[in-house]
Amino acid sequence: MRIGVDLGGTKTEAVALGPAGDELARLRIATPSGGYDSVVRGIAELVAAVEMQVGETPAGAQAPAIGPGIGPSIVPSIGIGIPGSLSPATGRVRNANFTVLIGHALDRDLAAALGRPVRVENDANCFALAEAMAGAGQGADTVFGVILGTGVGGGIVTAGRVLAGRNLIAGEWGHNRLPALSPGEIPGPPCYCGRTGCIEAWCSGPALSADHARATGETLDPPTIAARAEAGDSAAQATLERHLGRLARALAGVVNLLDPDLIVLGGGLSNLFHLYDRLPEAMRGHVFSDVFETPILKNRLGDSAGVIGAAWLWSDEEHAEGGR
Ligand SMILES: [Zn+2]
Repeated sequence: MRIGVDLGGTKTEAVALGPAGDELARLRIATPSGGYDSVVRGIAELVAAVEMQVGETPAGAQAPAIGPGIGPSIVPSIGIGIPGSLSPATGRVRNANFTVLIGHALDRDLAAALGRPVRVENDANCFALAEAMAGAGQGADTVFGVILGTGVGGGIVTAGRVLAGRNLIAGEWGHNRLPALSPGEIPGPPCYCGRTGCIEAWCSGPALSADHARATGETLDPPTIAARAEAGDSAAQATLERHLGRLARALAGVVNLLDPDLIVLGGGLSNLFHLYDRLPEAMRGHVFSDVFETPILKNRLGDSAGVIGAAWLWSDEEHAEGGR
């Protein structure tokens, strides 16, 4: 059995999956608001509650029977998805918009609370892993999972494993600069990261709204812009065209570097259905190849991708061997 936890600033969800990925139990709580220690305690209690629900030994009740030579573990593996990442320099959480986590060694603290190794991973990587193992990317060897929401993130999965990278930032394309700029796109909108013209500052949901506001003076959310475009509003259509072209340039850069077997879109803007019809053609001229056949698909797991991807952070072999 594998347990996944999706830790967010407002809610935390846990799922228990059987060996074939079948869902055995799922629980959701409001993320504890009493500081870091209460978050760790809350996750430990949530994991114990999920284990109770499927009839396993509660977390922390016994030393884990894991280690080389001992044989397959009877203790479920635990993966946690967080809105941030662990710094390879310090082993502590960085870049988290759930700021209570920043500076803490969440994996070690949870391992101590739960009595077994815990794997912590960025939520975009969990999204990509979930879609690769159980969603739109099933059967594809290399999957690039794209988050197009309030930010732009991404994760790379190859052969069923997250490609973490030397600096643990593989797939983080949102703060690359938008390529192939037109004169009107220089220097580009400022980004919270301190740079200007980042892909995130052009292609995220808020960036789409801001671009429409710069052109029309009217601030609308992306679903309203899409609805107006559908109804024939030419200014809204022009906004979506600019966004499509920018996203195509940005994604073509990913294809030229990684050439994934499949790209899966998640986040709020993955509901913009014109992207699936039109991105391939818009990207073609920017891809360095005479053939461009990469499928670009909508996610299949929706909001569940984070928790399911966290559960898949351990392969069966790694789990049986007791960790990294
Ligand atoms: Zn940026």
